[in-house]
Amino acid sequence: MTAEFMNLESQAVHAGRDDLTALGVHALPLDLSTTNPLPDIDHGGDSYESMATGGHPLPGGGNVYARLWNPTVARFEAGLAVLEKAEAAVAFASGMAAVTAAILAGKGSARAGAGNGALPHIVAVRPLYGGTDHLLDSGLLGVETTFCDEDGVAAAIRDTTVLVILETPANPTLDLVDIRHVVAQSDGVPVLVDNTFATPVLQNPISLGAAMSLHSATKYIGGHGDAVGGIIACSEETAESLRRVRAITGAILHPLGAYLLHRGLATLPVRVRAQQEGAQQVAAWLANHPAVEKVHFPGLDGDPKGLLQHQMSGPGAMVSISLHGGFEAAKALTSGVRLFTHAVSLGGVDSLIQHPAALTHRPVAPEARPSANLVRLSIGLESPADLMADLDQALAAAHSARTELAAGAATR
Ligand SMILES: *Cc1c(COP(=O)(O)O)cnc(C)c1O
Repeated sequence: MTAEFMNLESQAVHAGRDDLTALGVHALPLDLSTTNPLPDIDHGGDSYESMATGGHPLPGGGNVYARLWNPTVARFEAGLAVLEKAEAAVAFASGMAAVTAAILAGKGSARAGAGNGALPHIVAVRPLYGGTDHLLDSGLLGVETTFCDEDGVAAAIRDTTVLVILETPANPTLDLVDIRHVVAQSDGVPVLVDNTFATPVLQNPISLGAAMSLHSATKYIGGHGDAVGGIIACSEETAESLRRVRAITGAILHPLGAYLLHRGLATLPVRVRAQQEGAQQVAAWLANHPAVEKVHFPGLDGDPKGLLQHQMSGPGAMVSISLHGGFEAAKALTSGVRLFTHAVSLGGVDSLIQHPAALTHRPVAPEARPSANLVRLSIGLESPADLMADLDQALAAAHSARTELAAGAATR
């Protein structure tokens, strides 16, 4: 895209579409081919070799096969890379496929061999998304993981450490982790930031020293709850190692998913800012609600380190609340809402509510699992007044359930 139009809103609408006018089309082209005609054996074979080792298709050699390369996916990658101020991006079938590829690529790095037979090592700053925590804790991928907090990274690094993983804002506590502070402790080991909650609209981890910025594109990037995907923005060199893993393991994103996710980029800045504005209102209102013990939101006393000034340009649109009345209150709230949908996932145009300890963070070790009275809200594009009215009626029902419970206990 031409350098004269470099503001995020313009990039979101135009990135990855530079060649459309030359192609004579206006909407994103969607190529569903699983295989591609080969010019001849030599050129086709060279192109195959280039892509299987993480490179691009060669001129005159064709795209060969859709597990190696798909132009609709490559277009989405080019668009997201611009928004993340990165050289490249690599898209995957899901956010978890992207996390898996980053770990497997790390296992292929030089440090992985430093242990004389010891497993490659990963440092993970908790809390993390439940699926990521579970993957690392499971040992399934043949890596050993040290979990720590953001001040414990330096002490956790070993000669065999191949990757440092963190998430900010963290899921589901909405704690902010200082990316620069973690990078400074990492001794040159690549740092991967899960940027799903912040989106490139509010935070660019690469500009803060991270090697990789990962998204579950299923969430804000797509924004409409109809496409699963993952993507990692990074240097071209890192992209090569990720594409190699993707080609070998078969984790590429489906082109229809790439089409929908790329379309989502155009409205990403507008959606994120409007949802954030709603979240700020709902969070402030919840802070004064008698049923609520604590609101977890970076825009409301949730930023003791002042990271909203240096790292993010806004608090985002995710809000968690700790309720008086424990698990029973959480249960009553999630079943009492009418405008919110009780469902996992987040970042879409409609508001969702879920209970992390029972759902998204169920596989996490007990000591790191969110507390039973914590409920997570993803604020959508509905009127904040309607969202507050819905929460108010559901919290009233939660409160009376608790009073009945207490009365029952008193008479027993
Ligand atoms: C959902 C999510 C993931 C996993 O992404 P999928 O697309 O569901 O595989 C990873 N990290 C965060 C923060 C998420 O919210």
